[in-house]
Amino acid sequence: MPSPVEDIKSRLSAADVVGSYVRLVKAGQNFKALCPFHNEKTPSFYVSPARDIWHCFGCSKGGDIFAFIKEIEGVDFPEALELLASRAGVILKKEDPRLLTERRRYFFLLEEAAKFYEAELAKRRDVLDYLKERGLKEETIKSFRLGYAPQSWDGALAHLRGMDFRAEEAERAGLAIISQNPEARSRFYDRFRGRIMFPIADGAGRTIGFSGRIYEKDLPKNESPENAGGKYINTPNTLLFDKSRVLYLWDRAKNEIRQSDACILVEGQMDALMSHQAGIRNVVATSGTALGQGHLNLIRRLTSKLFLAFDADAAGELATKRGVDLILSSGFDVHIMEVPGGKDPADAIRANPELWAEAAREAKPVISFFLGILQKHFSSDPRKLKSETGKLVLPYIAALENEMERAHWVQETSKVLGIKEEPIWEEVKKLRLGGLGAKITSVAPDAPVAPAKSRRDLLEERVLGMLVWKRGEFLEKLKATARDFFSEHHKPLLECVFNEKIPAGGGKLKENLEKLALEAELLYGEMPARNASRSEAGGEKVHEEFHLLLAELEKEHLKARLGTLAAEIRELETSGEEQKIFPKLTEFKELSQKLSNHNVKKEI
Ligand SMILES: [Zn+2]
Repeated sequence: MPSPVEDIKSRLSAADVVGSYVRLVKAGQNFKALCPFHNEKTPSFYVSPARDIWHCFGCSKGGDIFAFIKEIEGVDFPEALELLASRAGVILKKEDPRLLTERRRYFFLLEEAAKFYEAELAKRRDVLDYLKERGLKEETIKSFRLGYAPQSWDGALAHLRGMDFRAEEAERAGLAIISQNPEARSRFYDRFRGRIMFPIADGAGRTIGFSGRIYEKDLPKNESPENAGGKYINTPNTLLFDKSRVLYLWDRAKNEIRQSDACILVEGQMDALMSHQAGIRNVVATSGTALGQGHLNLIRRLTSKLFLAFDADAAGELATKRGVDLILSSGFDVHIMEVPGGKDPADAIRANPELWAEAAREAKPVISFFLGILQKHFSSDPRKLKSETGKLVLPYIAALENEMERAHWVQETSKVLGIKEEPIWEEVKKLRLGGLGAKITSVAPDAPVAPAKSRRDLLEERVLGMLVWKRGEFLEKLKATARDFFSEHHKPLLECVFNEKIPAGGGKLKENLEKLALEAELLYGEMPARNASRSEAGGEKVHEEFHLLLAELEKEHLKARLGTLAAEIRELETSGEEQKIFPKLTEFKELSQKLSNHNVKKEI
């Protein structure tokens, strides 16, 4: 019987698993993508279907599907196993929840809480009617697991205690609050009371927190929503919930975002829900927190095209809208959807779902949207039009990374303003040098974190990679002596290649070799351009490269050996052991001759 790990690997490919988090683009035999683990603008992250591994040549992270899930979900191995098992339909032996790690226990606890709130909502006809009035269908309420937290101090707590969870655990999972009142009957009370509950899930669809919207009819007499904690309250940051990285409906929207290569970002849960209900499913919401870099990083794994929904009548408000600057300087291609009827998206969709779909289809690039609005507003005041354009539009043009795009929009702006391009360019340049330039550099790609390697190490790795990649084709060519060219620390890898097998427990060796093979394949696989004569001409070129690498490697080996010999000879000279010097000198001469032959060959 295969182990669960083998079983899962046989059902899920690296390309499928990685591809559900990252937008993969075909590159020859492989896929490439922008690395989700470091900030970069050109892809150095690869997935090899043939080897069933992934690797980033920028930050050196890589491995199998388990390594990927651990890294991207920030979980330990048991949890990665659990996540992938449920995805692959592999059943793991059930564990007693009391023995689970703290983190995994919270998942159970929050799932129980979600069920409790769902059951409470089912009891409340009036709340259900209210939600339907707002436009939600019964199926949507069920499918998105909306719930209700009753107006009581310990409704959820009592339920969780009944399920063998402790009140302290409910507090740490964000569901309960420690009472400040020394006379209180109990130390803990429910955080969410008298609220409509929207469960918030992680990328894998597991509940990690809640957002609770006040249900006014259940407020105690004389109490205002402000006194009750505000219209919306959210789970605070916990072991599972980090509001700077959480987007409402991310788990439901991510596939659609990847497939459509665009993400629509809205502000409220109702906006997002109504859009999903209307069949536009590449929609997520920030739900109560300000949009931050963490949210954008999440989205950028899947697409660089971001749609923002705005009310066309509130253009002035837009200028001060936090987040738009951040989005633009993060390199997103931003489009603006004009919300029909000047309402918030949820109301607009309720009024006419078709118009919402149309707004998505007709979204305009952010700069053209602003230019259009300003032109309309200040058609009779050209001076104001110029100054407002300078304030509102030019910073966005300056934030564009692509020179061609900047040129395009400078041209468009000059048309709208009826002035030459030069003064606009001047302003844009000033902005780039000033504040915005600084912002742009702050999101520039991180420097690769891979440690520097010696030239010899790099050559050895490349040769090893080619040997694995070509599966023995080059092996015969590697003369018996070439074994000596390799440094000690690469000998175990070389033995695996020579014997064409990995010793038991050599998982790390295998991973290393696969990575080197992928690297060789990426470097030489496309050599020359992919065409009909590929196998012929490409083959020759690769052989040539291999011989060059070997020759260079031999040179490095000779240099290293000469260095050692020179040191030994010096030592023998000082100790006066003349008779031992002679063979060393002979060897030194021979090797020097060999090295200079190499160099002569190269010069010819
Ligand atoms: Zn990386």
